[in-house]
Amino acid sequence: MRLRLPAWLARIPRPGATARIALGLLSLTASLVLALDLVLGIFPSEHARLKAIRERSAVDLAIQVKVLLARPQTEGVVAEMLGDIEHASQDIESIGVRRTDGVLVAATPRHAELWKRAANEASTLSEVSVPLNGASGRWGSVEIRYADRAGLAGWRDWFNAPLLILLAGLGTAGLLMHYLYLRRMLQHLDPSQAIPERVRTAFNTLTEGLLVLDMEHRILLANDAFAKLQPGGGKLVGRPIGELAWLAGALERAGEQPPWVTAVKENRTVIGVSVELSEGMEQPVHALLNCAAIRDASGHARGCLLTLDDVTELDRVNGKLRQALNELEASRDQIQRQNEDLQLLANYDPLTGCMNRRAFFARAEKLMAHALATGEPIACLMTDIDKFKNFNDTYGHTVGDHVIQQVAKLLHSAMRTEDLLCRYGGEEFCILLPGVGLAEGMRVAQRIRAKIESEAGPGVRSVDGLRITSSFGVSTLAESKAHSLDHLIERADEGLYAAKDAGRNRVRFAQPGGDALDEAGASAAAKTELADA
Ligand code: GH3
Ligand code: MG
Ligand code: MG
Repeated sequence: MRLRLPAWLARIPRPGATARIALGLLSLTASLVLALDLVLGIFPSEHARLKAIRERSAVDLAIQVKVLLARPQTEGVVAEMLGDIEHASQDIESIGVRRTDGVLVAATPRHAELWKRAANEASTLSEVSVPLNGASGRWGSVEIRYADRAGLAGWRDWFNAPLLILLAGLGTAGLLMHYLYLRRMLQHLDPSQAIPERVRTAFNTLTEGLLVLDMEHRILLANDAFAKLQPGGGKLVGRPIGELAWLAGALERAGEQPPWVTAVKENRTVIGVSVELSEGMEQPVHALLNCAAIRDASGHARGCLLTLDDVTELDRVNGKLRQALNELEASRDQIQRQNEDLQLLANYDPLTGCMNRRAFFARAEKLMAHALATGEPIACLMTDIDKFKNFNDTYGHTVGDHVIQQVAKLLHSAMRTEDLLCRYGGEEFCILLPGVGLAEGMRVAQRIRAKIESEAGPGVRSVDGLRITSSFGVSTLAESKAHSLDHLIERADEGLYAAKDAGRNRVRFAQPGGDALDEAGASAAAKTELADA
């Protein structure tokens, strides 16, 4: 189970790795000092030190007392000296010189009252007794009573202990020095060693440049592809990425925020930052940068992974592809235009722009099939220019062509969108009028005939005063009793012959098995037909 810290505690920033290592090193040093002191006693205890000093001064005093007492009548001098010493020392409360029988030979005033120790007991820190030996053996002792400092003086001493001062000094100055030293050293050490060899090998197989950065944007790892991109080479690991001017400068020129700053700060992924790398490069490199935050177990950003994809070659290939595509589109348009031309050539007559017979039949068959299926009316007009040969013979073929073009133009202008106009032969045209019965068909033929008669001749500019006329034959589905397109055209052709026979420049309807009729006759026949129906 994971230990959950209170929110306020979790908000306190954790010390960095360097600070933690410095603290660890310091703890080790302090433990070592303590252990050495424990084993070797490097730093003597204050108690023992004080006791030794007191015993030393007691011995010195005893020697002086012994010298003085060896002379006669000197007890007074000794007492005076003891008083002076007690007076001069803050530590000493009382001093006495005692014979072995317990009688005080000389003493400061309060000594008898303050001295508690029996003659044979060992000295303590506050009561120090030094034996006085004469020629016949021990005759007494010098007793010094020191002020008891167990209370307040105790903790003051403790704080003054050299070991504690040393540890406190180490703790503050040592921590700071360790930290500064480590920080400097760690920058020089290769942090990439923290990344397993097999991972680095895997990264080196990538063709994309790849960097792993820490929170301060320092490079922890750079793969071979990235190192190769760097102009002039040089060390990458340990350096802040901002120092790579060829990269940072390119981003600045492009007006782009460095993606690693955004990725680490906002703990997210930044994709497709486009840069043109040129500084120090032989050839400019177009690169795409992607940067993803690296998160720890709790989801906080710990650094980022930056990839640099050289797309220069891709751009070049794309450019070529685009060019090839443009050329392809151009040639496709050209082919389409040529196809349209071919279509026109294949279906239309170049002299008149009328449909040729092949194209006409393909469409006319459909209209005829529809009329046969539904019984809807349909009319066919066959027309031929009268005495056309004369134009050729008199004015030449060029004028003959102009005559044909003029007639075709007038025929065109008379057509509705659904009508079909075909150049059937030299100066012969066939027209199909869907939805048109006999009377209407005769009217249309008559109207066109009149128009040709009045407009075609003046239309031929190259020859003045030309008179051009055409003869017309009409057939219809119902009145001609046509059962096919060919049959319908045949009937119209019969009407045309009848018109020629009748003197040309006229319209005729060939009755099945009867005489050919003019417009009035055909109209009457059509009415009779209707009445019969
Ligand atoms: P009709 O009134 O009986 O129709 O007399 P016509 O002279 O018009 O009849 P014919 O069929 O004898 O003459 C047609 C001539 O048209 C024959 C041919 O040399 C000429 N012709 C056919 N096609 C063309 C063409 O494209 N251009 C020219 N200039 N002449 C053509
Ligand atoms: Mg003719
Ligand atoms: Mg002809």
